Formats: sequence, structure tokens, C-alpha cells
Amino acid sequence: MLAGAASLGVVAAAPAQRATIPRSLSADSATRAALASRYPRDRSDTLPAFPLRDIGPGIYAVLGDTGRGVEGRSNAGFVVTPAGVVVIDALASPGEGRVLLRTIRSVTSQPVRYLVLTHHHPDHTFGAIVFKHAGARVVAHPDRRTLANIDGDDRLASDWTGVMGLEQMRGFAYADTPDVPVRHDTTLVVGGRRIDIVRPGPAHTAGDLMVWLPADRVLFAGDVLVEDGVSMMVDGSSTAMLGALARIDSLGPRVAVPGHGRLAMRPATLIAATRCYVLALRDTMRRAVANGVRMGQTIDQLPPADRDRPVSLHSRLRRNAVRVYSEMERALFDATASKTALAAEARERAACPR
Ligand SMILES: [Zn+2]
Repeated sequence: MLAGAASLGVVAAAPAQRATIPRSLSADSATRAALASRYPRDRSDTLPAFPLRDIGPGIYAVLGDTGRGVEGRSNAGFVVTPAGVVVIDALASPGEGRVLLRTIRSVTSQPVRYLVLTHHHPDHTFGAIVFKHAGARVVAHPDRRTLANIDGDDRLASDWTGVMGLEQMRGFAYADTPDVPVRHDTTLVVGGRRIDIVRPGPAHTAGDLMVWLPADRVLFAGDVLVEDGVSMMVDGSSTAMLGALARIDSLGPRVAVPGHGRLAMRPATLIAATRCYVLALRDTMRRAVANGVRMGQTIDQLPPADRDRPVSLHSRLRRNAVRVYSEMERALFDATASKTALAAEARERAACPR
């Protein structure tokens, strides 16, 4: 507990110390050359723009990879208003951020006013510095804690540089600490356009936000929804995930842009599939806990969790399972766990495909 509290203190208190990637990765020219040879060169200045999809008046989804789940390049988006552009998520590196900005420039020369971050995972935020330099104010939840940065920001930047390559990370600095912190539902009005920043609760991570355009019923859901893999709950919780899905249902989106994978043109289908996955996992783990079955044994007997979707990475499923097992363990000893809530969950689960 104390260690967790201490690391939270560092994360919150030391923005000045997380300015650049650790020098040890780049100071030694031999090391740099060796590392650079391992990774493809960044061609972000010459790469074509990312594919775009027009999903409403002035509303664009910037399409990431499909079929790779949370391992693939994430989706992003932007909204063009008469007073400037609002960007949603910054992708995984300054290199990707530069291509994203160029993609926006292919549509509009309006200044970028805001960058909204749906959460603090590096594949959605590590391009943020590009938008900060372009003059954007960063809108995000102030809670930056994730398992990825549990050993500190420098360690995460170093590890992520190993994933993306030094050239992609050229010019990196952390820029996900919000200029406009959002903890609760908040409305931005930019150029007369209403853009709701929705707080769905800590479902995927502690700092989850979504972007909702009520006039056009378009939702940017971040990683609460993942079309080609599972929604991860390791940094959040399955209870909050069910709440977030109910919230999305209540909005009734016409189009939902998931964090990864294809756009959901019938969002209710993706929401229902995600809910059924979460409910099945909770049901399995709740029964295991009640019957005194050990976590390891239970996880080895998991049913296929990602029915009809292309990516089902075993390690990720296990990580969700471990998280939910411990949630159910806590719930068993929680005298306030409501029988009514359990019955409601069983009813919802009965509507899921078997
Ligand atoms: Zn994420």
C-alpha cells in the first residue's frame, strides 16, 4: 500500500522530471546506432496520411489497425469547428503524432485548440507533445496511474522506446498531464459546437474519459470498447466496465469509435458483446471463488472469451481473468454486495449467447 501511495506521489508531483526519454538510450552513439539499426527508420515526414472516415459533419475518425486488438495502432479522431480543431487521442509516438497532424491538415488548416485524451496508456498519448507544440490545450483526467507506469515515467518511456524505436520517439516528452483536468462529465463548446467529455468511471483505466457529440450521436469510446479484441480491465475493474457500458447504452450512439478495431456502425452489437464477455468472466470467477477453486486452476479452464472476434490473446485474457477473480474474492467478503444486483446480472447474462 505504502509503495503504491509513494509512486502515486511521484507521478503527481514531478512533471518537470519526465521531460525526455532517458539519456542512457541515446547518449552513447554506438548504442544509438545499434538500436537504430534494430528498428525501421521513422518516415513520418514522408509517410502518407492515415486513413480517414467522415462520420458526421466535421467529425472524422482516423483509422488504426484492424485485427490486432490492443496490440495494433489505435484509432483517433478530430472535430473541425469554425474556431479550431478538437483532436481525440494522440497515438503512440511523436512520429505517429506528426502523421496524425498531417492527416488533420489534409482536411483543415484551422488551429488545433484541444487534444482530448481518452486515457493514459502510451499507445493513445505518446504523440501528445506534437499537439502541445501545435498550440493545443490537453484535456484529460488527472489520474495518470496505470500498471505500465508503475515503475515511473522514465522507465515507461524507455520500455516504450524499445517498442516503437528511437526514430519514432524523436522529440518525445510527456504531455498527458492535463491543462484542463476533467474528473466529471464536462461540456466543451468550441466554435459553437457542443462536445461532451463523458466520465464513464474507472473501467479500462483510472483516468478514462469518452468524447460524445450529442447533435450527431457520435461517440469516441477510447479502450472501453475494442472491436477486434477484448476490453482490458487490468487497470480498471469489471464493475466499472459494466457501468461504463450502461452509460454508453444510455447515450444511444449512432456511431462508436472504439479504441481499437473497426468503427461500430451498430454500436449496440459491440456493447452487448463486450457486456456478455464481462458478465461471463464475472460469473465464472464468482462461482470459482464461492466453491473455493484456486485462481490458477480456474483460469486454466476458462471458456473462449472473445467469441466471434479475430484477436483473442491468451495472455491478455488471463490478465483480465486474474483481475476479475480478485474482484469477486473481495465481493464475497463484502457484506454490502447486493442480492438484487446479482440477480440483475444473472438476468442480463441469461440474454447472452451460449
Ligand atoms: Zn488502453
